[in-house]
Amino acid sequence: MVWLRTLLWCALWAAVGLLAGDLFTPAIGWAVPCLAFFAMLVWRNHSLSRVTRWAQDPTTAPPADVGAWDDVVAPLYRYLRMQSRVLQESHDALQNMVAGAQALPDGVVTLNNEFQIDWCNRMAMRHLGLRLPYDRGSKLLNLVRSPDFVAYAQSADWPEPILVRLSNSGQERVMMMQMARYGQNQHLLISRDVTQIEKLETTRRDFVANVSHELRTPLTVLTGFLETLRDMPQDAVPAEQREQYIGMMYEQAQRMQAIVEDLLTLSTLESSPGAGPAVVNMSELLQRARQQAEALSNGRHVFEWHIDEDLDLLGNASELTSAVSNLLTNAVRYTPDGGQIRVYWETDAQGMAHYRVQDTGIGIAARHIPRLTERFYRVDRGRSRAVGGTGLGLAITKHVAMRHDATLGIESEPGKGSTFSLDFPSERVSRDQA
Ligand code: ADP
Repeated sequence: MVWLRTLLWCALWAAVGLLAGDLFTPAIGWAVPCLAFFAMLVWRNHSLSRVTRWAQDPTTAPPADVGAWDDVVAPLYRYLRMQSRVLQESHDALQNMVAGAQALPDGVVTLNNEFQIDWCNRMAMRHLGLRLPYDRGSKLLNLVRSPDFVAYAQSADWPEPILVRLSNSGQERVMMMQMARYGQNQHLLISRDVTQIEKLETTRRDFVANVSHELRTPLTVLTGFLETLRDMPQDAVPAEQREQYIGMMYEQAQRMQAIVEDLLTLSTLESSPGAGPAVVNMSELLQRARQQAEALSNGRHVFEWHIDEDLDLLGNASELTSAVSNLLTNAVRYTPDGGQIRVYWETDAQGMAHYRVQDTGIGIAARHIPRLTERFYRVDRGRSRAVGGTGLGLAITKHVAMRHDATLGIESEPGKGSTFSLDFPSERVSRDQA
């Protein structure tokens, strides 16, 4: 096609030259085609230089009207455009995959056959303390040095994940790690932070052990008395002693009942939705708690009551009763005879409501205070049992506080006394206008 076009042009200019030679002089006849060929040469060179310039950056549109070069440039440009579209699609797909891997809640590290880091996602950086691109090419086993993990990584295969304790920025975290092989002997490491699950599992195990232990003690006592009564002939046990045994058995049964009731309260608090916005008449509620506390004290303590009669709360009456009574009965139980118990129910300048129980009791050493709201935590186990405690009262109180957006405050000094307070936000306060 190109050849044919060139031949036609040559023939045309030769014919024009012959005609010019005939009409004018032969010199003119030669000059015309020579000039024409020269012009063609110049134009072709000019086109070639335009094509060469375009070839430096073929992503731009190719030059138009470049004669024979059109046949080269146009298909080349079409091919380049198709390639760049394919490249863009592959790039987008890769970016999508990387974004997906970054969004994974698990850590992912790709490693070569020497366990050198190739790439890792953000979660893996957080879990294992890796930094990219700084750690690219570093050996993973030099960076994650836990002996358990090193032994695991060096084993022949990894059918099961492993739990590894890692210390990251001063915090100990438990990671579940799983290695896998892929591609050309490359390795993939997946890490999952199971610290919270481990903690929950430990709490659950401790809780089951604690409940069993708490119930086993009274049950052992109860069984012991029952066996004695069963095995001894009826007339071998004097009536007075029998009465005493029955009294002790009743006491143990009551203790088990108290534990079970507190456990049920806790489980209800944990499983039911938060406290609703019903208005709770606090002066009535406190009046009932006062009667109970004074009955429990039986005149052994001096009470002082500072109650704002018009101050009510939005919340759940039975939950609040349990929290208010727990703090009050604890003050009675842990304050020796003759001690003072002051109770306050008032608001402050910011409109927050405060329930405060102040006693001059045995007090609590500072190291115990953060743990008092743990289930079954007692400062003095024997003393708590002796006064009929279950070790669950403050755990219940803390739960109730949280469900009412309140905080439980504890201040105490051994030998001097304690102040327990429930501080409710102003949004929970309701003023009795009647
Ligand atoms: P318990 O049923 O044993 O009283 P709580 O959860 O109510 O369980 O309290 C946990 C522990 O906190 C108690 O065993 C006791 O050691 C301590 N405690 C609670 N209230 C007081 C208080 N007012 N004075 C001194 N110690 C207290």
